[in-house]
Amino acid sequence: MLSAITVSKETIAFRDSPEPTLEPGHALVRVHNVTLCGTDLHIWEDDYPSELPLVQGHEFSGIVEALAPGAGPGTAGGSDPGVASGSAVGLRDPGNHNLSIGDRVAVNPIIYCGRCRPCRTGRYNVCQDVGCLGCYSDGALTELISVPVEKLCPVPDHLPLDIAAMGEPASIAMQAVNRGRPEAGETALVLGSGPIGLLATLYLTELGVKVVCADTEQHRLDLAVEFGAADTLLVTPGLAFPDEHQAPRLASLTDGYGPQLVIEATGVPSSLENAIRLVASAGRIVQVGISPRQAAVSMKDIPYKELDLMGSRMSLNLIPDGLALLARHPGQARALMTHRFAFSDLEKAYRLMQGRTEKIGKILIQMPAGGTA
Ligand SMILES: [Zn+2]
Ligand SMILES: [Zn+2]
Repeated sequence: MLSAITVSKETIAFRDSPEPTLEPGHALVRVHNVTLCGTDLHIWEDDYPSELPLVQGHEFSGIVEALAPGAGPGTAGGSDPGVASGSAVGLRDPGNHNLSIGDRVAVNPIIYCGRCRPCRTGRYNVCQDVGCLGCYSDGALTELISVPVEKLCPVPDHLPLDIAAMGEPASIAMQAVNRGRPEAGETALVLGSGPIGLLATLYLTELGVKVVCADTEQHRLDLAVEFGAADTLLVTPGLAFPDEHQAPRLASLTDGYGPQLVIEATGVPSSLENAIRLVASAGRIVQVGISPRQAAVSMKDIPYKELDLMGSRMSLNLIPDGLALLARHPGQARALMTHRFAFSDLEKAYRLMQGRTEKIGKILIQMPAGGTA
């Protein structure tokens, strides 16, 4: 089978290797679709704490081709001590009890130890030894992958398999929203209208929250309206945000108090600074954008407004919920997927992301077995 190996900075090598054998507690998944995100770009640019060479790909969907004996209906599987199932600590099962060969699945790429204190308290997405298929160990840019059976998430009947690859980013957006404890009738400010910000907007809107989206690109804000944003604010880098026209709009949308919840989905330091400045008293901020850079946060606003400042990382088994969110909004899900490349053109996809010259939502890599089954 053919795998795409990121061998060094911005260099992909396609290599033939034997197909994986079925281990206890595992399933073999024929990969059909992989979507790429900013993390993938950073890994490819060798600007991420991953070690190369690496088979990338952590957002993916495919068809179950083989199930280890005992890993079929009625069991949760997961006996490999190297890739803990977490079932021993009573973690929520993603709902794979009735899987069969031929089933359409998305895959939860998180790997955790199941033994450390965060894992034992159910916070395994921030396991002290957390891993991710395609980021820290080999992932899905290969024709056939072996994964612990409890990582499989059945794809709803009416959800196309290519869209199902976005179950993972949808789960990240939902985790960020859940961390923020939104309540119907509140107003949220979502900073950044990339895929995570847009999917967070979609979910918040479903929950009855009024969402204001801010981004530096008008075309992304146009998409934000399709995802439910009640208003949008165009940010001009280097200028005051919100500007003199936007400030009264934001005030009127929040009864003059500021948003109760801010989701920071850009990873730009000034954006977190804006979040702390703009959020209402007693408000909540969820930082989901990731950056190695430092932000200059106000040590007055945080205590004066008694803010809850929270981080959000990957998700607590929300891929089934992410798939359901996408299935409820087929038009928006389809609009998010702006580009499509054949597996053999993987490098072109990375170059496109790197160039930032086109309007890019999600980029889909169609694997040889893929299609829109
Ligand atoms: Zn991703
Ligand atoms: Zn752990």
